[in-house]
Amino acid sequence: MFETLSERLSGVFDKLGKQGALSDEDVKTALREVRVALLEADVSLPVARDFVAAVQEKATGQAVTRSVTPGQQVVKIVHDELVHVLAGDGDTAGQLKIDNPPAPILMVGLQGSGKTTTTAKLAKRLKEKSGKRVLMASLDVNRPAAMEQLAVLGVQVGVDTLPIVKGQTPVEIARRAKQQATMGGYDVYMLDTAGRLSIDEALMAEVEAVRDVTSPRETMLVVDGLTGQDAVHTAENFDARIGISGVVLTRMDGDGRGGAALSMRAVTGKPIKFVGLGEKLDALEEFHPERVAGRILGMGDIVSLVEKAQETIEAEQAERMMKRFQKGQFNMNDLKSQIEQMQKLGGMEGVMGMLPGMKKMSKQVEAAGMDDTLLKRQIALIQSMTKKERANPQLLQASRKKRIAKGAGLEVSELNKLLKMHRQMADMMKKMGKMGKKGMMRGALG
Ligand code: GDP
Repeated sequence: MFETLSERLSGVFDKLGKQGALSDEDVKTALREVRVALLEADVSLPVARDFVAAVQEKATGQAVTRSVTPGQQVVKIVHDELVHVLAGDGDTAGQLKIDNPPAPILMVGLQGSGKTTTTAKLAKRLKEKSGKRVLMASLDVNRPAAMEQLAVLGVQVGVDTLPIVKGQTPVEIARRAKQQATMGGYDVYMLDTAGRLSIDEALMAEVEAVRDVTSPRETMLVVDGLTGQDAVHTAENFDARIGISGVVLTRMDGDGRGGAALSMRAVTGKPIKFVGLGEKLDALEEFHPERVAGRILGMGDIVSLVEKAQETIEAEQAERMMKRFQKGQFNMNDLKSQIEQMQKLGGMEGVMGMLPGMKKMSKQVEAAGMDDTLLKRQIALIQSMTKKERANPQLLQASRKKRIAKGAGLEVSELNKLLKMHRQMADMMKKMGKMGKKGMMRGALG
């Protein structure tokens, strides 16, 4: 699965990885190559286009994270976007609604897609992994061989099949399956509908009639992954007419490109729940977007490296500050980080909004001049101090104060307020530090 795409992408990222800094042009070139790689993998054009646009946007707005290269950061963004395009709003791989026994599962798809094999694979799985009692029935009245095939597979996987009765219509067989499943105490009954070589009216009408008498809990479309974009069109058609709940992509063992898998969710809105990876009856895998994206990029280590770097940097900062606060050290640099943290949280208003009961106070806060420009003014004052002064605010005597205020374009009275606030906070930090509640500090630092 995905070998070709995987190779192409790693080529693109290898080039990026060698560079210490990336220009916009580098990113653009890389993304152009990503787009070509997607199209070559038979991903549909609109999906490839949206994909690249989304990565571009995220890559541009990204703050640079220390200890990973920009190239690695781009890999992470591409990874996340792959997960998004594969998963939409969630990972539903392997999940089937089969409560309220007997739960009907309708299997639909074109002839030769691997529908009958997949029915048996799924039945085996439900039996072995979920301990369900399953009954399978073939509704393919035109091809007695298809009914025989399911019966043979049933014996192989140890799952019951509905006895074949000649001369019945698909709807009659479906009713009989329901009845037998109810009386026989089965948890699930699976209906393997007839396939056609292509979508035609008679096929759809037949499947629809079966759907209406059984109200399936799941309608699984089986499509041949090797057919690429055709598989996606087939899914669109079946969904429009029958309504499908999920897709099984077969023959993914033979598809190095995987375009159908990448376009399916974006185009049809339906999740791929399983993929078929061979003729053997256990060659069925859950399709987890996160894992698949990792496999496509083959760079799971980079993705987790970037995640970890982002986390550790924040944790390290908090840890370092904690240690210093415990020792009673809280200088102007610390105050500056605290103010910046507040800005990140959406300024005074954002912070106030988060604290219960503070919403009401926001008017008073405004009146006291504590709006968002206050944070900016405070930062300007701190920036106007020398390194020494920041580390050691006790140095700040009248002449220094005048210079600092002037440098920030503000009054000395404003600086005095800042210094008072600093003293109060330093006191508070010391107390909190003594309490030694790491968790508490972390919380306070966001
Ligand atoms: P149906 O006509 O849709 O019911 O298709 P079948 O279940 O009869 O499958 C057609 C052929 O495809 C059989 O030879 C299967 O063994 C084969 N097949 C089904 N699924 C897979 C798969 O995931 N990988 C491979 N390589 N072959 C498969």
